[in-house]
Amino acid sequence: MRILIVEDEQHLAEALSQILKKNHYSVDMVHDGEAGLDYALSGIYDLLLLDIMLPGMDGIEILKSVRSEGMGVPIILLTAKGETPDKIAGLDHGADDYVAKPFSADELLARIRAAMRRKGEVMPEDALKFGDLELNATNPKLTVRGKELKLIPKESELLELLIVRKQAVTSKEQMIEKLWGFDSEAEHNNVEVYISFLRKKLNFLGSTTRITTIRGIGYVLEEGQAQ
Ligand code: CA
Repeated sequence: MRILIVEDEQHLAEALSQILKKNHYSVDMVHDGEAGLDYALSGIYDLLLLDIMLPGMDGIEILKSVRSEGMGVPIILLTAKGETPDKIAGLDHGADDYVAKPFSADELLARIRAAMRRKGEVMPEDALKFGDLELNATNPKLTVRGKELKLIPKESELLELLIVRKQAVTSKEQMIEKLWGFDSEAEHNNVEVYISFLRKKLNFLGSTTRITTIRGIGYVLEEGQAQ
C-alpha cells in the first residue's frame, strides 16, 4: 500500500510519514501543490493525504483535478482549525474523508483503513474503462463486449495503472513502483512478464485495444479499430 502525503508543514509531513511507515505503508511526501498534483496523477498511489492550504495549488484544486481524470483513489483531506467551509467543498468534490489537525496517529490510521475498505466496495458500474475494455479492479475481472476473464492481482494493478494514465506513456519504473514498491528488487523483465500475460488475455477476449511498446520509454494503451 503506497500513500502520498501532500503537506507543506515539513515537521508534520515527516511525523505523518514515520507513523505510516511504522504501520507498513510505503510513503512519499511532497510539500507544495504542483508537485502534489504531479505525483497524485502518476496513478501509483493507493491513498492520498492532502493538506488544504498549500503553496502553489491548494488541496481542493488537486482533489478536483484528480477526480476530473476519473481517478477513484481514496483521498483524505487534512484540515486546519476553522476550515469548515473547505471541508464541505472537499466532500462535494469527491474527498472520502477529512481529519482535523491536530489528530492522533490512531485516528488517522483508522480513517485510512476505513477509506481503503470503502474503496474495496466499489460497485461494478464503477469499472475502469478504456476503448472496449472494462476493468473491475476490486474482484479482478476484465470484460470485453460481454466476454469476461479473471485477472490475477498484479495483472489488474498493471492494467489499472495503464487505464488511469490514459494517453500518457507509463515507464517500467512506474510499473515496478506500483506493483512491488520503490525499494523492491523487481526488474524490468518482471514487468515484461505481466505485460505479456495481459496481451494474451486481451487477445483471448478479442479486444481491439493494444498495449503498445514505446521503445526505451515504456507502454501505452491504444484503442484499435473495430473489425
Ligand atoms: Ca498547509
